[in-house]
Amino acid sequence: MSTINCDRCGRELSHPVRYREKYYGSRCYQIVKNRTEANEENEYRDRCHALVKALKEKDMSNITNNFKLDFIPSVIGYYEKNGRLTEKQYEVAYDMLNQKDWRVMTRESYRLGVIDQIDFYSLMALNSRTGSQKWEQWRQKDKEARKFKGNNAQVSKDELKV
Ligand SMILES: [Zn+2]
Repeated sequence: MSTINCDRCGRELSHPVRYREKYYGSRCYQIVKNRTEANEENEYRDRCHALVKALKEKDMSNITNNFKLDFIPSVIGYYEKNGRLTEKQYEVAYDMLNQKDWRVMTRESYRLGVIDQIDFYSLMALNSRTGSQKWEQWRQKDKEARKFKGNNAQVSKDELKV
């Protein structure tokens, strides 16, 4: 029988705790878990900040949909008050961004360090091309990047009548 060692301190474990595909002793587990989740929360807050910046700069003059007209200012207000958006708000607001808004969000994400230089340039290159397929790839890339702690709330457009 092979032994399991703690991924953080290397100690041999009699009662390993599994967390994110790795094993830890109970003390190291708590430390790693707290640190990981604090980092994820910070990153999520930065993503919310970038998204809200795009919403604030969004050209609303051609929007006639009442849901959008109400939702966008209310979600900005929620962010100002709470420093973050709920997952559901994020998903819905995210789907309201057009290509120009996306560039604002991507630039701000890069400034905050949420995405690195390589991602930034590949996203911007993708965005400068037209075509809905490329556009969709970009959306997917951001969605994948936001996989954190199992709360990927999926909201259907029918459900929210967007
Ligand atoms: Zn350990």
